[in-house]
Amino acid sequence: MSGIAKKIAFFGGSFDPPHNGHLAIAHVLTAEFGLDEFVFIPAFHAPHKRDKKPTSAFHRFAMLALATIDEPRIVVSKMELDVPERPYTFETLGRLISELTETRIFFVIGADSWTDITTWREWETVLTMVDIIVVTRPDYNIGFEHVTDAIRDRIVDLRADGINPDTIDETGTSIFITDEVQVDVSATEIRRSLRDGRMDWRAGVPDEVAKYIEKYELYK
Ligand code: ATP
Repeated sequence: MSGIAKKIAFFGGSFDPPHNGHLAIAHVLTAEFGLDEFVFIPAFHAPHKRDKKPTSAFHRFAMLALATIDEPRIVVSKMELDVPERPYTFETLGRLISELTETRIFFVIGADSWTDITTWREWETVLTMVDIIVVTRPDYNIGFEHVTDAIRDRIVDLRADGINPDTIDETGTSIFITDEVQVDVSATEIRRSLRDGRMDWRAGVPDEVAKYIEKYELYK
């Protein structure tokens, strides 16, 4: 695409805690999509998960920062933590579009978020304002029945042929589906094993995150 100087992906979520699935997504997409930057955006409190009380945003930010400290192209943004009102995703993306010129913006979501997407405020706007990357998740089906024809027409399924940065650069704003990341771990499962006093949770998170969780006695 001409006039595009940079490619940056943004990945929003609770990251409560950040785990090896989140980190694998960052590593694989940065390499395979040829990204200049991959940005985690921890949510103050994911607006569509209002029933769940998350761990303090400070802790979640700190764990992400520790987990990515040696990765020059993978960073953590505090943009959703700075604002007085919890922003919806379409508001965050609008802000990014106006601030980042000459940048192709990708917004990354997991399979479960894709399934729930129609519950998000302004979901059709979210899916059309920037490029989307849907990352499949073990044991989750990727369906397409819940979205409109106009959205379905923009889907580029990369599952058969893999990711080729040249192909991606030739498309217009699209919704890419990729199965390059297959890490079967979830934050809910990690919190559950911590609460139950099992030791297997450590295998699901980077070492720095494990040490942080123990030092600050999170998820007890
Ligand atoms: P929870 O179990 O509390 O829902 P989570 O593990 O899904 O947490 P979130 O912080 O809610 O983590 O996830 C942020 C985004 O990452 C979501 O879009 C989610 O679908 C995606 N995601 C999380 N874990 C994986 C995984 N193992 N593979 C692919 N996508 C994932």
